[in-house]
Formats: sequence, C-alpha cells, structure tokens
Amino acid sequence: RQAELSKLKDQPTVSKDGRQVELAANIGSVEDVQKAIDNGAEAIGLFRTEFLYMGRSSFPTEEEQFKVYKYVLEKMEGKPVVIRTLDIGGDKELPYLELPKESNPFLGLRAVRLCLDRQELFRTQLRALLRASRYGQLKIMFPMIAVLEELLEAKRLLQEEKDKLIQEGETVADRIEVGMMIEVPAAALAADSFAAEVDFFSIGTNDLIQYTMAADRMNETVSYLYQPLHPSILRLIQMVIRAAEREGKWVGMCGEMAGDATAIPLLLGLGLHEFSMSAGSILPARELIRELSQEEWAVHAGRALAMRSQNEIKEVVQMLTRSDS
Ligand code: PEP
Ligand code: MG
Repeated sequence: RQAELSKLKDQPTVSKDGRQVELAANIGSVEDVQKAIDNGAEAIGLFRTEFLYMGRSSFPTEEEQFKVYKYVLEKMEGKPVVIRTLDIGGDKELPYLELPKESNPFLGLRAVRLCLDRQELFRTQLRALLRASRYGQLKIMFPMIAVLEELLEAKRLLQEEKDKLIQEGETVADRIEVGMMIEVPAAALAADSFAAEVDFFSIGTNDLIQYTMAADRMNETVSYLYQPLHPSILRLIQMVIRAAEREGKWVGMCGEMAGDATAIPLLLGLGLHEFSMSAGSILPARELIRELSQEEWAVHAGRALAMRSQNEIKEVVQMLTRSDS
C-alpha cells in the first residue's frame, strides 16, 4: 500500500476529468519541510511561525527569523511557500509578552489583532519575510482577519517596511502574493469585499468551524457541534470560493478539513484550488482526487448544500465514494 502511494509522489494532482489542484503541506517547524517534500507536497500551504516565538524568553530577532524563512524557501526550490504571520494569543501565550487578562481569549487580542496593536513585533517579522523573499516563491498570509480595515492596515505596514528595505539597498522579490485566512465567519460572509484586496484566500476551518458553531474546538463536552460537513460550513466555503473566482483569485484551505477523505470530494466539487494538510495526508488525498470527477462532484456538492444536517451529507458522500472506486 505504501509502495503504491509513493508512486504518486511526483505525479500531478488531477481529477479524473482533468481538473488540476495543488496539494500542499502544513508545517510548524524547520524539520517539517523535509517531511513535506518526502510526501510529495507541491507547496507549503501554511507555515505556522508560532514555534519561532515559543519556548524561549524573548522575541526572536529579525536575523533569526530571516534565516528560518530563507532556509524553508530555498529548501522548497521555487515552489510556493505560504508563510503566516504570527498567530499568538487565544490559548497560545508567550512568557515574555504581557497580554491583558481576558475572559474570552479566543474572542480577544490574538493573531493579526495583536500584531496591529504591537506594531514593532509585527514589523520585525515583516522585514524578515521581505528580506527572505528573494530566495524562493514567498506568499505572505495574515491570520484572523475579520474586517477590511485590518487587512488594509496590515498591507500598509508591509508596504512601508518594503519601501524602507529597498531604500536601505536590500533586494526584495518583485512579486510577493499577499493573502488572508478566512477563519472568522464575518470574513467568509463578506469575502466579496476582501477579494479585490488580496491575491488569495486560505480557509482556516479549525477556527471557522469553532466560531460558526460557537463551540470551542478543544472542548470535548461540545465536540458534537464540531461539524466540518454541516451545511452552514459548506455554504460559507462556497461563498468564499465564489467571491474569489469573481475577482480571479485562488482559494486554498489549510484547516484539518482539507485532508479529510470525506470532505475532499465536496471541496473539489465546490472548486477549491489548493488543499493544505499534514504531510502524511498528501499521498492518500492525491490518490483519492485522481479517482474523482470534478464535474460530477460539483453537482453532488450543490445538492449537499441544500441538505439539513452533517449526517445526511456524510451518508451521501460515503455512499458515492464507495460506488466510485
Ligand atoms: C485554522 O484555524 O484552520 C488554522 C489552519 O489555523 P490554526 O489551526 O493554526 O488556528
Ligand atoms: Mg486558526
């Protein structure tokens, strides 16, 4: 079985009817890059940069960060690398960062909210990213964007640091795609208002599901509400993809759902362009997608959107994928 899968390592990810998609890896450390390559990743779809900041007693310097980003970009040899700016706060704390005590940290000062509040911290990371950009195909992604003003402010700071670096004589890649995560329901519902301002969206279903269902993703007692295939989630995903397509932008997904065998046929049907997942899920996902028809699953997905529950949708997908293979 493993031998069969590894034959797919250098194969393109194309559906039975010729729709090509990209299978990317989520990474959270420098060591993960090799695993991504060994598992046939066509790109890095999410580089969680939090590890750089955790388990230490002070902020990582620009130079330290630069070295890590450069290493990952070089190792990927020109393939796309989506690096997400710092997503701290919520449950992730740093001992050297004073944060206000919040009664609902997941609804508080986290991710891009924190970065816009502590600009020096953010600017240091942006400079390190920009300096590394010439060593590969860097794409920069902002997490937890809820309103347009946050995106515009993050982009403004990025542009400012870019201008400064160029003035200082640094080389920065001409073209760096800038995108945002869609993980707040407000951003999904208003995706059309963001689409013109980004190069891409990446749907973070781990948070999008928790916020849509109002159910903590770590809380076992309400885990029955954590439903990736609930019609509400599928409808949000469809809205995001449609909004992006109208502006000619691509849409990825970097939440756990992107690697889920039951979700993949529906996501292909809805027109998702990039699937980013843990390295171990890539080859099974490629094998699955190569057996599916995008056109047929567009029809199935359309029907699923009108269903009433996750159970109903799951049953249909499982029945159809069984008869497919
Ligand atoms: C997500 O929310 O889906 C996501 C990919 O980000 P994280 O799991 O790091 O919050
Ligand atoms: Mg998230």
